[in-house]
Amino acid sequence: MFSDSEKTRTILIVDDEIETLTLLKEFLEDKKFKVISTDDPHKVVPIIEKDEVDLVIADLKMPNMDGITLTKEILICNSEMPVIIMTAYASIESAIESIKAGAIDFITKPFKFKHTLFVVNKALERRALTQLAKKSIYYKKLSQTDELTGLFNLRSFKSVLDENMKEHGKLGKGLSLMMADIDDFKRVNDTFGHQSGDKVLSDIATILSKSVRGCDFLARYGGEEFAVVLPETGKRAALKVGQRILEEIEKFRFKSKNEEFIGLITITVGLSTFPRDGQTSQSLIESADKALYKGKKMGKNRICTIDECF
Ligand code: GH3
Ligand code: MG
Ligand code: MG
Repeated sequence: MFSDSEKTRTILIVDDEIETLTLLKEFLEDKKFKVISTDDPHKVVPIIEKDEVDLVIADLKMPNMDGITLTKEILICNSEMPVIIMTAYASIESAIESIKAGAIDFITKPFKFKHTLFVVNKALERRALTQLAKKSIYYKKLSQTDELTGLFNLRSFKSVLDENMKEHGKLGKGLSLMMADIDDFKRVNDTFGHQSGDKVLSDIATILSKSVRGCDFLARYGGEEFAVVLPETGKRAALKVGQRILEEIEKFRFKSKNEEFIGLITITVGLSTFPRDGQTSQSLIESADKALYKGKKMGKNRICTIDECF
């Protein structure tokens, strides 16, 4: 398979003068680019929409559409398409105008081939780098989030909790952790099917997102278990948040994928607070887990710390 850098780049040239088109096309093909050419600027957008084009080189002065208008139209259709404007020496002013309109660079006619090649390569390189950066942001996000709920995944939860605990420890501040597990979730799957179960999970993720502050951190811990990190929040304040979440979930009218009412869904929450319930992230998670287990034993649909249930 070709890597991106080895792929043949496609350049679209637009000029009403056929001699210019031919000259530039031959030069660029000789440099191993794939070249598409047209003398009609109105064909440019349809070509970009249909073919894989990496760069457009457009003449500034064409009878039925000027290069500046064309640049704007190209960028409306594809905001990342690099456009290079060709111009005669006399119209440098307009070339500057085209840069303002979004063109990436300009070349002057008659062509200085070495310079033309330099500008073309620079534009393509910049495009490749932008695409690479976008890809890496996308993959980073993908590796941090849970696909079904859009919440952070277990891996990012652990690193966020670690980081937060270090920081809170240094500052001598409290932090709370809630582990929430859906009650009798197996029954939802068994009665309404796995897809309806998935829908409930994503509805609960939405309710959780609406119930916490922007600085709180929400993750899907595992199957039907969620984790919430509440920075700078002591036990009493965290209990209030937890109780609010329980109420919101109890109030919500969950529906199956076929829009049937599922009936009451509840969760049990285990709460632990740093530093009293755990000095390390591992021990804080264990305390929240113990509290959660206690809540399940006590009859579910409640919030518990390791000492008491509410
Ligand atoms: P408890 O109140 O004790 O928590 O009972 P429960 O039924 O919720 O717990 P149990 O651990 O017995 O079952 C959890 C169920 O969650 C079983 C599993 O199939 C389901 N589950 C886990 N992950 C997913 C998922 O991604 N989608 C769906 N639909 N179900 C899931
Ligand atoms: Mg459960
Ligand atoms: Mg569970």
